[in-house]
Amino acid sequence: MKGEVFTAVMIVKPPGKIRVEEAVLDSDLVSTLRKNLPHAKLEVADRISEAVEPDPDVVEVVHFKGRFLKSCPGTRHYSCCGYRILHFGVQCNLACSYCVLQAYLNLPNLRLFGNTRELIAELESELDSHTERLHRIGTGEFTDSLLLDPWTEWTTRLVPLFAQRNNAVLELKTKTNFIENLRNLDHRGHTIASWSLNAGLIAKREEPRAASLDERFHAAARCASWGYPLAFHFDPMIEHEGWRKGYGEILDRLFDAVDPSRVVWISLGAFRFMPDLKPLIRGKHPRSRYIHGEFIRGLDDKMRYFRDIRIELYSFMLERIRRVDPDLCVYLCMEGRDIWREVFGFSPEDRGGLPNMLDSAVKERMNTGNDFAA
Ligand code: SF4
Repeated sequence: MKGEVFTAVMIVKPPGKIRVEEAVLDSDLVSTLRKNLPHAKLEVADRISEAVEPDPDVVEVVHFKGRFLKSCPGTRHYSCCGYRILHFGVQCNLACSYCVLQAYLNLPNLRLFGNTRELIAELESELDSHTERLHRIGTGEFTDSLLLDPWTEWTTRLVPLFAQRNNAVLELKTKTNFIENLRNLDHRGHTIASWSLNAGLIAKREEPRAASLDERFHAAARCASWGYPLAFHFDPMIEHEGWRKGYGEILDRLFDAVDPSRVVWISLGAFRFMPDLKPLIRGKHPRSRYIHGEFIRGLDDKMRYFRDIRIELYSFMLERIRRVDPDLCVYLCMEGRDIWREVFGFSPEDRGGLPNMLDSAVKERMNTGNDFAA
């Protein structure tokens, strides 16, 4: 066990079992897990079924046969950010009540992909074969980017790899404060340390196992002191009594904790969900009242707040962010042009599209010399 992360409040227990598929038993990932979890019981199987009993104490390591790089699941109806996901594992046990993974995945346990050489080879081949474009890649879509990092040390492989590529940035999105492995890495400003945030009441009630907001801010400030660019995501924004005060306070605390000029972007996304998620939230999180609000079905079949509410949420946040830093890149996740125009007075298409806006933010805000020059 190493580093300060373990002197902080430990929000997640180290796994007590490593269940491994035979095909990846000799992988670097399994060696690293065994080194960092010397007391964990090792179980080996030919194949680990998806239909197993949930076991919060286990981390599974399997041989993944699909593509490791995926497009972010945007739809043609909404402005998409053009972000791609490096798929290194699935599931998360931080247990946020609104988590889409509850409905999206039928895998009960934390699962990592052990064929890491193939993952790295696919990533390098993609970055090297499209040198003309800026690759924005993240790992926090099907799991939390840093949840298992104290034991996998994944960031110690990925961060230096991105540091060597002039045309790529990595975004690590988390609700933990597991940043210790980032401390001494030569990142060359190519990795964005990023946190999901919410109003205090929502974080406390609906994100019970995540790091506290203070711990997230503290971790962000430390990453900034190590030279990492930062990003923040207010997603899902949940309408609740006193939401203006709640979100306003979090923005104040955020800008007290970090220098806004270090922030590459802030995204905003109002709560939305596939209809299948509602009974799951009602069953597993009976005290979560927000699911009983009024919603309409969007073009992507997801349920979402009425447009006036979404516009109010976003406009409030934008105005408060603009007061602090008028040039900070703020964007909406999964919203159409009409909402953009109401909130910002322009749509991404007016500025060359959302991917272009985010590429510009990287070029302007990331302290990387000429690496991202147009
Ligand atoms: S941190 Fe993210 S992935 Fe994990 S439970 Fe919460 S919403 Fe889901």
